[in-house]
Amino acid sequence: MKILGNTVLFAVASLVVIFGFGAWMAFHYSEVKARVDKRDEFQRCVNQMHSLGIGGQLWAADHEGKFPSNWQCLSNEVSDLRIVVCPGDHARRFAANWSALTDADSSYQIVSPGVVESETNVVFLRCLIHGFVG
Ligand SMILES: [Zn+2]
Repeated sequence: MKILGNTVLFAVASLVVIFGFGAWMAFHYSEVKARVDKRDEFQRCVNQMHSLGIGGQLWAADHEGKFPSNWQCLSNEVSDLRIVVCPGDHARRFAANWSALTDADSSYQIVSPGVVESETNVVFLRCLIHGFVG
């Protein structure tokens, strides 16, 4: 009878250890996943700002070297409207189309509308979520 008691006790202790380890792993997995997701958002934000900057340069090439003064100017240079919403901005909704797009629909602020492309020390864009500038 005592052997059976020890066996049951060992089985219960094993289950506690297994489930405890599982809970610990689940907690750390979610913590690591949150960090990776955040880093991914940073990277995608930088990539989107880069694409918007290239779109601005393309537009400037046809407009006396001046960057766009509003988002609609980029409609022919940037194919995806969703690029004006930072991946870290979970509250903002996408505008229906380029003509309906307002500053309130974008996570990025055009800091210097119409800035001349040759003025490389002037900030053109700023992410309102991350504070990145470009
Ligand atoms: Zn951002």
